[in-house]
Amino acid sequence: MYHPREPLVVVLCGPGGVGKGTVARRLVERDPKLWLSRSWTTRTRRVNEKDDAYYFVDRPTFEAKASSGGFMEWAEFLGNLYGTPWPDRLDTADGPGGRDILLEIDVQGATQIRHANPGALVILLLAPSQEEQQMRLEQRGDDDEHVALRMAAAIKEIKAASDIADAEVVNDSIDQAVDEIDAIIEERRRTAGKQLHGDAVQGSR
Ligand code: 5GP
Repeated sequence: MYHPREPLVVVLCGPGGVGKGTVARRLVERDPKLWLSRSWTTRTRRVNEKDDAYYFVDRPTFEAKASSGGFMEWAEFLGNLYGTPWPDRLDTADGPGGRDILLEIDVQGATQIRHANPGALVILLLAPSQEEQQMRLEQRGDDDEHVALRMAAAIKEIKAASDIADAEVVNDSIDQAVDEIDAIIEERRRTAGKQLHGDAVQGSR
């Protein structure tokens, strides 16, 4: 008999400027069984940012959703709120539809998911060097002060994230990082599948 397993929640976390967004997009492009959640934020859209990068909302709208339990996790990052909405259980075009769920979020959010869902797969993405990370942040168009704040936040984030992550991947080459993460996800799926099969066999005794 076919026993569908619960969707795996994969958390891609790490400081700003390590390339999480690019890696996340590449992962879902290559893996049809993976669905990328779209977060809500109170941050204003950057000039070069796509409309659908987030659900851009004002603070009262965000806070109303947070207080009604509408987020799987949410956090404040440098003065803006970011949150992962609960995925739509219905099979809508905008929902996971039985696929595994990929979250691209900060370390505070990853910590919340880690505690609420011990079965989640948490991957910490790191930049090859601080210089590279700073350059990537500057290229995004954030001002110098913001870049400096993000670099300072990154040191604390890496420390906190290494306590909760299942794996750490250095984003030296995008292709290699995507390959590595893809393999980690596949391995976790195999283990989850085996556990499920083992449970079913035990249950039938
Ligand atoms: P940015 O402003 O650069 O788009 O995002 C700032 C930070 O917030 C990044 O580390 C990004 O991964 C994180 N982030 C994006 N969406 C969410 C979310 O839904 N929850 C949490 N906790 N962090 C998020």
